[in-house]
Amino acid sequence: MFRQMFEEKYIRFPGGKKKALTFSYDDGVKADKKLVEILNANGLKGTFNLNSRLFDCECWHGRMDEEETYRTFSGQPHEVALHGARHVFLNKVPLPEAVNEILQNKVYLEGKFGRIVSGLAYAYNGYSKEIVSLLPALGVEYARTTEDTDDFSLPADFYLWRPTCHHRSAAFGGLADKFLNGSPEEEFKHREGWLFYIWGHSYEFDDDGNWETIENFARAAGAKKDIWFATNSEICRYVRAYRALAFSADGERVYNPSALPVWLELRGKVYMAPAGGEIAFLGE
Ligand SMILES: [Zn+2]
Repeated sequence: MFRQMFEEKYIRFPGGKKKALTFSYDDGVKADKKLVEILNANGLKGTFNLNSRLFDCECWHGRMDEEETYRTFSGQPHEVALHGARHVFLNKVPLPEAVNEILQNKVYLEGKFGRIVSGLAYAYNGYSKEIVSLLPALGVEYARTTEDTDDFSLPADFYLWRPTCHHRSAAFGGLADKFLNGSPEEEFKHREGWLFYIWGHSYEFDDDGNWETIENFARAAGAKKDIWFATNSEICRYVRAYRALAFSADGERVYNPSALPVWLELRGKVYMAPAGGEIAFLGE
């Protein structure tokens, strides 16, 4: 290994894990119930992006009504997130209306589920510079696009969060195999922690008759001990905490100002910087 690579630091996930897995499924449809069961059976976690003024639209891919939506997601380890009140293109309606779409959606979901709802998936992938700039003021912590990266990278900008791939993507099988059986340490460069971020709509498994695709993947992933299973917002908050670490000029000490313990790898060793604490790295 080159000396300069030896000096690089890499994000490690809770427990020092090198890989993280998350799911993001849209629209609040009846098929979500089966997806929740599959995730739960394997200890996996995901984020479900819900509208709040389309509960009477069952004909639209089997959307759930208000009560069914609440029963499906209440008390679950999964995250509920914003998808706009009425699933409009946020970048095509007047800006004040876009604000209402997000804020009404947030007020409703927070009131219904009794927790802070701070994630967003852009309906129809509709966003613009103006929309993105509004999100922090609306209490939105991150927003997901539908622009697949086909890799395991973490987003530079959480308001333009690109997923790894849709489960229907031709790349899914190869990526799943690499993620489950490979390791960032096998990369010559870029040995940063891996995030496999899968998105889609659960009704597509009904439409395509291929629930076994996700069942088989979930079973294989759930059996792995080296993967952190997390919701979108858990990942966003953890990565932000990692990025907020403050290092000494000689790189031998680090302070973690966040409320989360943070793991990182340096010179082949994994360290945990406690919440609000400072540590020194072991010299070579
Ligand atoms: Zn949608």
